[in-house]
Amino acid sequence: MDVKEKYSIDIHDRRFSSKQNCIDFLVQARWKGKPQCPYCNNDNMNYYLAKRSIYKCSSCRMQFSPTKGTIFESSKIPLTKWFKAIYFFTTSKRGFSSYQMAKWIGVSQKTAWFLLHKIREAIKEENDIILKGIIEADETFVGPKINRDLRLRIAKKRYEAKQEAIHGISDNKKRKRLGPRKVGRKKGSTKKVLQQKKMEREVKGERTTFERCTVVFGMAEKKGRIVMKTLGTSSKTITKNNIYPLINNHVDINSSALITDELNVYTGVTFLPHLTVSHKKSYVTKYGVHINNIENAWNHFKRVIAGTYFHLSYPHFDTYLNENSFRWNRRNDSIKYQFDSFFPLVNNKKITYIEIASRKKNKLAA
Ligand SMILES: [Zn+2]
Repeated sequence: MDVKEKYSIDIHDRRFSSKQNCIDFLVQARWKGKPQCPYCNNDNMNYYLAKRSIYKCSSCRMQFSPTKGTIFESSKIPLTKWFKAIYFFTTSKRGFSSYQMAKWIGVSQKTAWFLLHKIREAIKEENDIILKGIIEADETFVGPKINRDLRLRIAKKRYEAKQEAIHGISDNKKRKRLGPRKVGRKKGSTKKVLQQKKMEREVKGERTTFERCTVVFGMAEKKGRIVMKTLGTSSKTITKNNIYPLINNHVDINSSALITDELNVYTGVTFLPHLTVSHKKSYVTKYGVHINNIENAWNHFKRVIAGTYFHLSYPHFDTYLNENSFRWNRRNDSIKYQFDSFFPLVNNKKITYIEIASRKKNKLAA
């Protein structure tokens, strides 16, 4: 192979043209070339039965497959297809839907869906890393668009309530409230009407736009790695109790500083140096403090959804966040590294269809 030639799909095809090539690579990545027996952990002098692509332990005489315990275990899809799917998964910028994967590697959509979820299982620890340095933290709503008007209306209401609490009701408002009632207005005060509407919604099981969103909390190093976690399905889940443990678990507190916007939740951050930027005034302070790296990551993630997945179901949401972080954290690496660095992760990641499907029940019950 020419040294200057960049890694690409044709080089990949040559490198993994046969099942044996894939097995050799897998053995190298999993066990550094020395296959280990899963029954007695012996890694000395295990024979290879080349005809059946199976190893035989020299100590306990048990036979084991090189895919034992990995995401490839007892899969009917040939390893060459698996490797091609992983090439597409790890090197694409904005993800692969099961429909597209099915077309590109020649399997049914259901098979591709299962295959992609198995691949996501292999990288499930991606969001468990610990960040270091200057960390930007923020939260976002993913789901139906909350339009600007609605947000402004809510902000205005909150502001007025605050002012009323301090200064009392203004004369102008008193006059308005005492004035003649408009024709056609519902009887009862606005508060009562809103309460009734809320109760009706709850009975029907409907949710407001804010409640239909998934709330995600994220942290980013300056031009570095990211961590993203779901908080829940309501804006009420943005609390100190939910967010502070995440900061504690995923930031190296002794050698880091935190930057956030001016949300009230962050006022209690005293366990590490903390700076804020007021987005009402500007996105960058005159000292160069900003959280644009995490905003950038949100922007990218939302484009991934809009362009590839369209809808993420809540029980699987964390796995998609993981996937996004996996690509983001390797975005500046070479394509070969992006592909190769996946394989040491496949150990002890066997997962069945039922386990993936049951996430739905478990997460909704919790
Ligand atoms: Zn053994």
